Amino acid sequence: MSAETEDNVIYLNPGESSSGETRTKKRRDNSADYSRNKIKQARIHGQAYVTAKNKTVRAKTIGPPCKCAKKCWETISKNAKLENLAKLYNLGTKNEQDIYLQGLISCTDVKRRRVLKDIPLRQKMFTYTVQVCNEKKEVCHSAFLSLFGITKDRVKRLRDLLVLGEIPEDKRGKSKTVNALSGDEITAVISHISCFPAKESHYSSGIVKYLPADLSGELRSSLWTTSSRYVLPLRESGPENQFENPK
Ligand SMILES: [Zn+2]
Repeated sequence: MSAETEDNVIYLNPGESSSGETRTKKRRDNSADYSRNKIKQARIHGQAYVTAKNKTVRAKTIGPPCKCAKKCWETISKNAKLENLAKLYNLGTKNEQDIYLQGLISCTDVKRRRVLKDIPLRQKMFTYTVQVCNEKKEVCHSAFLSLFGITKDRVKRLRDLLVLGEIPEDKRGKSKTVNALSGDEITAVISHISCFPAKESHYSSGIVKYLPADLSGELRSSLWTTSSRYVLPLRESGPENQFENPK
């Protein structure tokens, strides 16, 4: 967990040493957020990127051609294919892309031969269209996947939602992380830290309190006993640990 939250800041580095020598306040390291965001944006826009595990993901491209009897792949010019690809990946979010893709899919009921007496078995039939010279052109499932560089699973999800009459909603990254602390837990941690003796210093930014350096281990172990989830990554290398008054 990060030691810094919006309202309650606990600096990883002391702002000033006991000798009064001023140190520069360490800014929050945003590089992880930055590269995560860069990867996310690249993925949305179909660009090449390198994952956190150093795996290179290539940019989205069209192809391979379909092998259907209608040979729909061959009836669409390369330009039209690239325009379709660009149109999808120029949409700003995965949601917008999914809604756009779902709009290109239509679903009809197909009556099948009765397998069991008096129980008609219905099956859905899906058709896929793409824009070619401002006109809709029907393509096979395989060509549809190839044109947009998308997976079968993504299309299946869009089809399932279409049958239910629902529009796609991107739920990735929306679930609560297991390490996230609730507001009550954060308040409990802050009030617990506030129990320790601290020295006050006045800065232009307001009152800053320092915990004695030798308290670090004690603080950590007592936080451990309070709850194993309350572990603050306080640095032990600095002469003192610093935290701001809870607002
Ligand atoms: Zn085809």
